[in-house]
Amino acid sequence: MAGAAGIAIGTSARPLFAQQPATSANSVERLADDLYVLRLPEQETVVAQTTREGVVLVDGGSASAADAMLKAVAALPGAGPVITLFNTHWHPEQTGLNEQVGKAGRSIIAHENTRLWLTTDVTWPWNGQTFKRLPKVAQPNKTFYTTGKLDSGVQYGYVSDAAHTDGDLYVHFPQQNVLVVGGVVSGQGWPVVDYITGGWIGGLVGGLQRLQPLANEQTRIVPSRGPVLSLADLKTQTEMYGALYERLTQMLNKGRSPNEAVEAKPAKEFEARMGNSDEFVRRSFESLWAYLSPDA
Ligand SMILES: [Zn+2]
Repeated sequence: MAGAAGIAIGTSARPLFAQQPATSANSVERLADDLYVLRLPEQETVVAQTTREGVVLVDGGSASAADAMLKAVAALPGAGPVITLFNTHWHPEQTGLNEQVGKAGRSIIAHENTRLWLTTDVTWPWNGQTFKRLPKVAQPNKTFYTTGKLDSGVQYGYVSDAAHTDGDLYVHFPQQNVLVVGGVVSGQGWPVVDYITGGWIGGLVGGLQRLQPLANEQTRIVPSRGPVLSLADLKTQTEMYGALYERLTQMLNKGRSPNEAVEAKPAKEFEARMGNSDEFVRRSFESLWAYLSPDA
């Protein structure tokens, strides 16, 4: 088991790809000589930096794809063993490599709240889905509260607005001008508002605002879902979620129910671009209860 994440440069003869459906295709987007976005079928985005010491990963994909992900990482130019893994938040789409990396004795960096969620079972009331706690070895072993920095100059920080969960972090690669934002920003459709672990629509707005000073016009912004974004995209999203936050808050203050909020179609004008908004509106409206707790 030890060293499972320590895949060396070069290819092995193990026929891992044979286990994948014939239609699946990995994509590798090169952002810099040492920085890549990996997209595996059905997986959320993984960012890999190759360094002399080994590979730094931002998120790891889900556990079912762990072997395929490690193989894709090992195939990158200049790849070595995974030495550091960031969890941008606790969701299983981000933390599926934790066990391998933890067993190899490497760093798993996360906000302390993310670690805490991974030490407990979580159930989503809206669909009954339960997430089992991770074994100790797979839990983040290097947590922080506000900001941190790797020796290489890579910076990371807490997005305290609770855009997606209450443990969101960003990872900033200043040399490459790349900002990895995890679930704080969605590049593809409406995001999941996970209010059980702290996410809310006010946090979406706050998180988008908080990230903007870290970026300039040339910054490549990498979300968990969807294509690489720009600062202009963040500004567009800030306006959209800001407008929705206002509309939903007004409905809440008028004592409307979640059903009434959905029926009012407050996000109608954005649906051509973003898709059907019903679930997003319902979850966002419910998320306001947790934060604004009206007495009505
Ligand atoms: Zn997520």
